[in-house]
Formats: sequence, structure tokens, C-alpha cells
Amino acid sequence: MNLSFFDSVKKTKLVFEPLEHNLVKIYICGPTVYDDAHLGHARSAVAFDLLHRVLLANGYKVEIVKNFTDIDDKILKKMKETKQGLEELCEQYITSYKNDMNKLNILDMSQEPRATQNLEAMKEIVSILLKKNLAYIIDDGIYFSSSKDEKYGSLSGQNKSENLQNRIEENKQKNNPKDFVLWKFAKENEISFEADFGKGRPGWHLECSAMINKHLAYKDKKYQIDIHAGGADLLFPHHENEAAQTRCALNQDIAKYWLHNGFVNIAGEKMSKSLGNSFFLKDVLKNFSAELVRFYLLATHYRAGINFNEMDLLSAKKRLDKFYRLKKRIYSSDFANNSTSNLTKPNKVFQANILKALNDDLNISIALSLIDDLVTKANEELDKNPKNKALKQELNANFIFIADILGICYQDAFEYFQSALSKEEKKEVLKLIDLRKKAKKEKDYKRSDELRLELENLGILLMDTSSGTLWECCAGLNEGCEDECKCENECECGCKKES
Ligand SMILES: [Zn+2]
Repeated sequence: MNLSFFDSVKKTKLVFEPLEHNLVKIYICGPTVYDDAHLGHARSAVAFDLLHRVLLANGYKVEIVKNFTDIDDKILKKMKETKQGLEELCEQYITSYKNDMNKLNILDMSQEPRATQNLEAMKEIVSILLKKNLAYIIDDGIYFSSSKDEKYGSLSGQNKSENLQNRIEENKQKNNPKDFVLWKFAKENEISFEADFGKGRPGWHLECSAMINKHLAYKDKKYQIDIHAGGADLLFPHHENEAAQTRCALNQDIAKYWLHNGFVNIAGEKMSKSLGNSFFLKDVLKNFSAELVRFYLLATHYRAGINFNEMDLLSAKKRLDKFYRLKKRIYSSDFANNSTSNLTKPNKVFQANILKALNDDLNISIALSLIDDLVTKANEELDKNPKNKALKQELNANFIFIADILGICYQDAFEYFQSALSKEEKKEVLKLIDLRKKAKKEKDYKRSDELRLELENLGILLMDTSSGTLWECCAGLNEGCEDECKCENECECGCKKES
């Protein structure tokens, strides 16, 4: 099946053809680890996790690398503020980042190189550029000579005559305002690394060029890797400079395709730390489940901007609740025990249509509307024939497919509807359910009814099944609970009180 992506350098949709049959190499610019992950990091991770999953679904083997920038001005500043050592500080935020990504159900990277562990690869590029006379030394560091690179500006479409200096560090000694630092010489008492050309530390752009070359690149092809990805704010100067260094030092183009994800705006402003409107993921996760946050970020096309707001988050929740409500409706202890139902295949047409949508530059809107349709039709069918086992098995297989390709709907449906409760509240609920079980066993029906009522007052609805009592919390369901249940007398889906 044809797979196509919008290439943000060529500014057009291109049919994807990997450099090597069946293998795709992707590099994503990772975080600078001086603070916790914010929504921008989460957005980028979710966007390219979808890319990763779609490539896998197309049968490709994927080698995907994301770096950690663990030496940088911001890190040095934070070290001063917190009086932490470099390693301790970076380790803390790398661990925190990885935990967050885990919660968001981001597939593992093939490698996660860190800048400070790849200094030799960086020094090598600086040495080549100096030798080729494409870099020069001034007081504070070694700079790339952008005017000697004819193609400089071609990646981001920045014309040579345009003023490119806005986002490049100011230094009056530079030959050209566009020149950028490859290696910063150490100031007194600053963390630095030995090098033949002077003690110092690498420039940010250099890090990615070196790590791609060392960990991912084909050495014998025109392009080093298939896809280079990152946030739209990285196109210039970061990716422009990465491309220039690699082109000039290693005589290769860095990537065949460039994919950039859109910004996350809060109250209409581009989210950035300097604006002070940064929204940490850990704060969002205090109020909303990680799966919901993933679903919310996923539901907007990766190139479009997201205006982060709670209203949209809540409507995303309603939509996801609907998916899970169907998942719960088809619940069978067969599925839970992973038995024969796993042999059932997803619906072929549904599967092909989802893949077709996602293969077209990750068209998530169409993919999700196909799931909406599936849910509506399945509910109608189940209203007519609530015990349609074949349909339930196929739907279960469809949900497994959805979980694989979109990374959502992977939870047990009952656990999903319990996620509004804290650990302590869950414990309390389980205690009451246990007491009720005991009362029933002792045939103390009055007591067991009292306990059911007590649980109902807490917003907990029970469903007694052959494999035990299942329950969900209706309090956090945003009034979706009652409207969704179409069961007439005896509740099939378990969301209404039993009569
Ligand atoms: Zn980078």
C-alpha cells in the first residue's frame, strides 16, 4: 500500500520509499534535560509514535533514535540554581522524561544516545570542518562558516539575503551573522571536555549531526537516514545547521524526508518556557489520565497546531469513553483470559480503511471517524442481538488492532472506568465489594443490599458476572454514563443500575 508524507522541506506530499528495502531509519530531536517534560515534548512524542506504529503496521522494520541533550547553557544554569552535579541533574530529568513517555504509551526507541557520551563523534566533525577550512576559531569558540556552504538556507527555505540572525547567537567577532557555534571554549570553572582544538563543549546543532552519524547513518548512500523528525520550531536554525554540518563534513545529505510536528498553544500563544506559559505534562497528568492526554494530542493532525484547553480535553474524553463503553459491552471472560478469541482476525475492510487513512500523511481525523462509525454500527447490531458472539469476537480483534496502531484503547474496559479514583479510593471500594461478597455468601441479603447502596452513593456501579463482581466509577464519567446505555430491562453493558 502506498505510504505518503508531507515533506516539510520540499513542502509537498511525497510517496515514501525507504533507502533500504523494508527498513526505515528515523531520528527525532529529543529534549534538553534541564526540566520536566512539557506538553510540547508530549505532542512531538505522540506524533512520531504514530508514525512509528504506522510504519510497523506497513510491515517495515524501524530503527528509531531519539537523543538526550545533556550538556547545554540551560543545563549549566540549572546546575547553578539547584547546586546539582551535571550527571545527577540530567539523570533526574532523563528518568522523569522516560517515565512520562511510558505513561503516554510511546513505543521504545531503538537507541537513546546522550550528547556527553558521544563527544568523540562530535570532535571528529569539528576537526574535519576545520581541516576543510569550513570552520574558524575566534575567542569564545569554533564557528561554522555558513557563507562557504552554497546550500546554506536551502533546508528551511531561508533566502541568503534574508536576515537570519534573529535566532543565532550574537557575537561581533563572527565572520557572518549566520555562522553558528560548533564548539564553545570553556569559561573559568565551567564544565568542559578536552579536545585537541581547545577545552570546551559542543554546540547544540553539532550534537545531532554527530549522533546520527555514529548511531544510525548509512555511510554509503546519498542520504544518511530515511526520516528526520522534530518540532516545527527546529526547522530553523537547528535542522538547517545540522544539515549544513553533515553535508559539509561528511559529504552526505542527512535525511531523505523531513517531518515536523505543529506547536502546542496555550491560550493562543506558542508554548515556550520564555513566555512562562509552559504546561508540564506531570501537572496535566494529575487531573487527566495519560491515555486521555495521548488521545487528545493524537486526535489533531500532527502538522496542525493544538490550542490546549480543558474543554477539548473533556470532549476527547467523551469520545474515548464511547470506545471503551463498546469495549465493555463486548466484554467476555474469554477475552480477558486470552483464549480462543485471539484467533479471530480484525475486520478486513475496517483494518484496510484505517491503514489507508493513516498512510496518507497520518490522516488521523479519517482514522478516528472510522472508529466512531464502527462503534455506532456495533452498538446498533448489539441492540438487535446482544448475544452476537461472533461480532463480539471480531470487535475484540478490532480493538486489539486499534491499540497496536494508535496506542489507545489498550486498557481493560473496567479498569478504564475506574481510573477517576485514587489508589486509596480504589482500596476502599474493593473493601466494600469484599464485604458484600461475604454478606452474600452468608446469605445476609439485607446487608449485601445495604453495601450495594453504599457503593452506589459513592458513584460505584456493580455488575455481578460469572468471573466475579466488576465495577466502575460513574462519578467521573461526565454524565456520559446514562445516555450511552441502550439496554432496556436488564443492563447488558453494566453502566445502569440493575433492576
Ligand atoms: Zn537535533
